[in-house]
Amino acid sequence: MDDKYHILKKYFGYSGFREGQEVLIDSILSGRDVLGIMPTGAGKSICYQVPALLLPGITLVVSPLISLMKDQVQALNQAGIHAAYINSSLSESQISKALRLAAAGQYKIIYVAPERLETYEFLQFARLAKISMLTVDEAHCISQWGQDFRPSYLKIVQFIHSLDRRPVVSAFTATATEKVKEDMICVLGLFDPTVLVTGFDRKNLYFAVETPKKKDSYVTQYVLDHKDESGIIYCATRKNVDAVCAHLLAQGIAATKYHAGLDAGARRQNQEDFIYDVRPVMVATNAFGMGIDKSNVRYVIHYNMPQSLENYYQEAGRAGRDGERAKCILLYSAQDIAVNRFFIENKEPNPDHTWEEIEQIREQDEQRLLSMQYYCLTTGCLREYILRYFGEFGTGRCENCRNCALEYEETDITQAAIKITACIRECRQRYGINVTAGILAGETRAKLREYGVSRYESYGSLKELRETEIKAMIQQMLVEGLLCVTNDRYALLKVQPAADDVIQGRRQVILKKPKTAAQSTEKGRSSQSSKLRRSDILNSKGLDLFERLRALRTEIAKEEGMPPYIIFSDKTLVDMCVKAPLDKSDMMQVTGVGENKYSRYGERFLAVILAYTGGMREKYYFGESPALAGKK
Ligand code: ADP
Repeated sequence: MDDKYHILKKYFGYSGFREGQEVLIDSILSGRDVLGIMPTGAGKSICYQVPALLLPGITLVVSPLISLMKDQVQALNQAGIHAAYINSSLSESQISKALRLAAAGQYKIIYVAPERLETYEFLQFARLAKISMLTVDEAHCISQWGQDFRPSYLKIVQFIHSLDRRPVVSAFTATATEKVKEDMICVLGLFDPTVLVTGFDRKNLYFAVETPKKKDSYVTQYVLDHKDESGIIYCATRKNVDAVCAHLLAQGIAATKYHAGLDAGARRQNQEDFIYDVRPVMVATNAFGMGIDKSNVRYVIHYNMPQSLENYYQEAGRAGRDGERAKCILLYSAQDIAVNRFFIENKEPNPDHTWEEIEQIREQDEQRLLSMQYYCLTTGCLREYILRYFGEFGTGRCENCRNCALEYEETDITQAAIKITACIRECRQRYGINVTAGILAGETRAKLREYGVSRYESYGSLKELRETEIKAMIQQMLVEGLLCVTNDRYALLKVQPAADDVIQGRRQVILKKPKTAAQSTEKGRSSQSSKLRRSDILNSKGLDLFERLRALRTEIAKEEGMPPYIIFSDKTLVDMCVKAPLDKSDMMQVTGVGENKYSRYGERFLAVILAYTGGMREKYYFGESPALAGKK
């Protein structure tokens, strides 16, 4: 008898469920709708794919992006599951054929684009077919409050109503703001759903904000230092994408690029080159990525600061989907703020929105940009900052971000903070950070003279400090919520009620500055953290074997026209090195090896392992227990 555990092992090769998966699967199997809110890489697909195989009829998966469907269907077929996709990349006759086969019960899982749901042909098919479940992937696209609203998602609701029998509905997303969550439940019409929100923390991701003088040199050096790895470099503009990509190519790096200015053919080709690891480094605007399921992305570098933490976490989250260590590095410069503000001000308003709504959205965008900026400025734990933004709490120190690794010099700036507050109040909160810092430093530049600021009592009240030092203090006060700036391009400084605690002696303000000598400590630590990557648990012989297995994987990928990670993930290859299986039953213990994958590739991989090990059980890893590599 097939049960969920059997299905998980047989088709996917995994021996246990991850956090949250089982609750959702059980709910679906008992006929109850679900909403699963889980971060990228948490394993949402398993939550609907496992029950899809246990339910009597077909599961329809509505998904917004064609590339995602193809990838998912390829992976399912590889695992021995009959699945298909129906979208505009197929010709009319291919669609008719797919629907005929679907009606004949050929497929358990069918991916469809939302637009397809209202076509006559599809509706005809759906009325006659036995649809057990409707899954809505990237369900946040239904919300007008989210950044990825897709009007075509509203068709899903009409579609469900048009069916004689309502299937169980399961919805999944990684976006969890309250408004979006409410929309997903209400607009989609989920019926008393099991709502599961798993933690947003991605423990395998290392976060860093860097402020290099020359971003190009930083990126090139990083990529050269991580030659065997696949990574994405996000830039704010097409121009930057072109320049960074050209720079990398000039250094002999196999990079490619993606942005909306390239024609569809070039975009498709470049994306495939990246996915198939022909060109493992992708330089792109944020047009790239949704629906990209490449699991072995080892780093995501943001050449520019994105517009919001929502965007940042989603884009950075494309690193390390396989659960292995990966790095997310943001290169910050103050200029990025101006670029983003320009984007916000020039955003095309949605014609369906009222003037008030447009205004509200713009304010929200400004607020988001500000939170993003504070992420770049904070000296606290970066992971903690992200988690708090999404309404969660961490431990305060994650020990896996740059800020936790740095050593800081702490300066008590309480007295200066009081003077800064007094200055802002004296100027009746009319100025932004530059003018305010100029006043406090007693500067005499033309603009300040024009404003006549020397009449203020606060003029020069911090003249012993440099203007940049005063700005750093103001920024610290912003990060701590003692001050805020207005949500417009003037960004005027305003005093917040919390500042009174400082003035009345109830609260200290501490500015942390990285110790210069500590750079080396940080380097030591971060390389130590990257050492914890799974392949780093292999000793030199283990790495040698790993490379051979990887070569075999590339060979098979070429033969089958598949991305290598769909054949087996890096994690599976590492586990093969650790467990060094000598026969089928050993091999079936390796994570990610299911029955179908074994029958397709198992023997070829076994042959390489046998040839290398000579049938001896040597140790190919550091440490005591191989359990580390096998379990998540
Ligand atoms: P999401 O859609 O949430 O971003 P995916 O469904 O793509 O994540 O899963 C991310 C990775 O985790 C995939 O490689 C998937 O095979 C793997 N995975 C999912 N569930 C499990 C599990 N129970 N055990 C081991 N690996 C898993």
